[in-house]
Amino acid sequence: MRKKIVAGNWKMNNDLAQTETLITELKAQSNPAEVEVMIAPSFTNLWQAFNSLKDDSIEVIAQNMHFAESGAYTGEISAAMLKSLGIKTVILGHSERRAYFNETDELLAKKVDAALANDMRVIFCFGEELADRKSGNEEVVVESQIKNALFHLGADAFKHIVLAYEPVWAIGTGETASPEQAQDMHAFIRKTVADTYGNDVANNVSILYGGSCKPSNAKEIFSKPDVDGGLIGGAALNAADFYAIANAF
Ligand code: PEP
Repeated sequence: MRKKIVAGNWKMNNDLAQTETLITELKAQSNPAEVEVMIAPSFTNLWQAFNSLKDDSIEVIAQNMHFAESGAYTGEISAAMLKSLGIKTVILGHSERRAYFNETDELLAKKVDAALANDMRVIFCFGEELADRKSGNEEVVVESQIKNALFHLGADAFKHIVLAYEPVWAIGTGETASPEQAQDMHAFIRKTVADTYGNDVANNVSILYGGSCKPSNAKEIFSKPDVDGGLIGGAALNAADFYAIANAF
């Protein structure tokens, strides 16, 4: 059975004090049964967040990492560093990393390999831009993003991969994919995985939706059979909203 997951991507928000405040508010909410709840604070606050949530079921995860184990990569963070804090999951391939930091499928393949080699779980993000959807190319784009970064892996690796479909036109824009658009794409993604790795692998991989997911639309989106949860940006910065989404299943 695949897992239901709701993960909050805090992006470059919240200093140390704000991180502590939001975590205190999150701890006051009751965790939904059978949903893995995760938050991704910034690197500087991971240690604090991890310790504050040591006895809670909320998992603290990272927003990014470098592919190298160590070395002359000023300003970067390795999987080994994350692991030394107790972090076990990393988001890779977010559209903001692709757009502002030139992360390509080839680079992401290396990052995925490094994370898996360090026994980390990967939340792998991908999604088409507005122009791709307008020209009817969304499936071609999504298929190539997944295949280029992940399809060199063996089937077993998919036990440690969570897929996150995030149409770029819906991220931080207030524009959400309709539940039907999300379902259609998630079904396509699952079929793409099944065609190469078989139904068992495809049926066990969690596929999250991301893009202006909020309390008012989460229930309908999460009710779709191939939507296994969400990667949440803006709404993850408010404890009540985030938990309303986590409880939307
Ligand atoms: C995201 O950044 O992954 C995201 C989904 O953002 P938002 O919810 O703000 O659209």
